[in-house]
Amino acid sequence: MSETVYEAVPEVESDEPPHVGTLVMKFGGTSVADPEKIRRVATRLVAAKRAGGRVVAVVSAMGQHTDELVALAHEVSPRPKPRELDMLISVGERVSCALVAMAISDLGQDAISLTGSQAGIVTDTVHGKAKIVEVRAARIHDALDEDRIVLVAGFQGVSTQYDITTLGRGGSDTTAVALAAALGADACEIYTDVDGVFTADPRIVPDARKLHAVSYEEMLEMAASGARVLALRSVEFARNHGVKLHVRSTFTEESGTWITEEDERMLEKAMISGVTHTLEEAVYRVEGVDRAELFSALADAPVSVDTIIQTDGPILFSAPLEDRDETAAVLDRLGATWNERDGLGKVSVIGAGMKSHPGIAARTFATLRDLGLEPQLVATSPIKIAFYVPHDDVERAVKGLHEAFELSSAEAERAHE
Ligand code: ADP
Ligand code: ASP
Ligand code: MG
Repeated sequence: MSETVYEAVPEVESDEPPHVGTLVMKFGGTSVADPEKIRRVATRLVAAKRAGGRVVAVVSAMGQHTDELVALAHEVSPRPKPRELDMLISVGERVSCALVAMAISDLGQDAISLTGSQAGIVTDTVHGKAKIVEVRAARIHDALDEDRIVLVAGFQGVSTQYDITTLGRGGSDTTAVALAAALGADACEIYTDVDGVFTADPRIVPDARKLHAVSYEEMLEMAASGARVLALRSVEFARNHGVKLHVRSTFTEESGTWITEEDERMLEKAMISGVTHTLEEAVYRVEGVDRAELFSALADAPVSVDTIIQTDGPILFSAPLEDRDETAAVLDRLGATWNERDGLGKVSVIGAGMKSHPGIAARTFATLRDLGLEPQLVATSPIKIAFYVPHDDVERAVKGLHEAFELSSAEAERAHE
């Protein structure tokens, strides 16, 4: 038996009644990668505004700017202090946000850019992966009332101790959803470099198919198991606050993927909605500690434990590679006997229809056997089967399963109203 551990999501009270026609539009790094693209985003925002909406835009840092800033920090210091790292990397989003506001003004529309702090995003004090505890949206409401487009720097907030914090990689998605919840927005649109959520990462499976609709539960499993297109926490937030998400392309006008409550058609049409993978997890094998004590110490660290596999013998769990130092420190402190396997990737087969269609596990393992692959650890939930294989075998497993479940065929297509 296994479980995927999700973080609790705080209550975010909207401080005013919802306004009709509020739209939150979030643009990822590739969408604002150069001046030309920034001007295109500005044009899109102005069009949304002129169509009558109250428009709030959340932008990510330009292109690889966040990675560059992280690398720069490590060139200067082998172990940058988390507080200072947050001061540094929050800058990327401020740059893009100010530039988009300038481009909007050039189009004759009033706009204002705000840092996360100015926008009222209040977080806890955990640098590098802070959680939003409150959204004080008064300033955004005022600016919207003044007929402006409001640009908010994604991925950041201000802690209850008045320090600048960041929300973890991909965190601009979370900023956008939190604002959509707090503002009572009609929808939160996530503009990115692919057309929506696909049956597998389109960069690995070129004939992967775009899904029209995905339930919150499926999207949670997909995000938790490597479908980078939405940050996990943003999906948790959306589910808990009923925010409708629309993942779509920055570069076309086409409709993308809606993430909403599960409906009948989702269950009937397709058993499997996708095959996801991640290479960014380490698996730990631990002995000699109390299970409850271990997971409580990891939670305090804080380490985002992903999959826990329960066996009669050792405790097995996975955690992100970026939490490796904290994990090792906790295990040593508890005096555990442990080792880590970091050459493994995780592949997950996900679908709400699994609940009502037996035989998915059989087909998954038969496919792996035919590919000559031996899964090393297996974890399941009612809508997921996940297993670990060596890094080099991940791509073959994803492609093989995508084909075995006929995910490219139009048969598996879902309708969305
Ligand atoms: P952004 O900068 O817009 O936030 P990200 O790079 O964070 O974009 O996320 C988009 C990327 O997610 C895509 O380019 C794609 O390679 C990857 N991806 C992984 N799995 C999936 C999937 N199942 N569907 C769509 N995209 C996926
Ligand atoms: N710029 C941040 C990152 O690269 C946040 C984001 O893009 O959502 O992770
Ligand atoms: Mg992203």
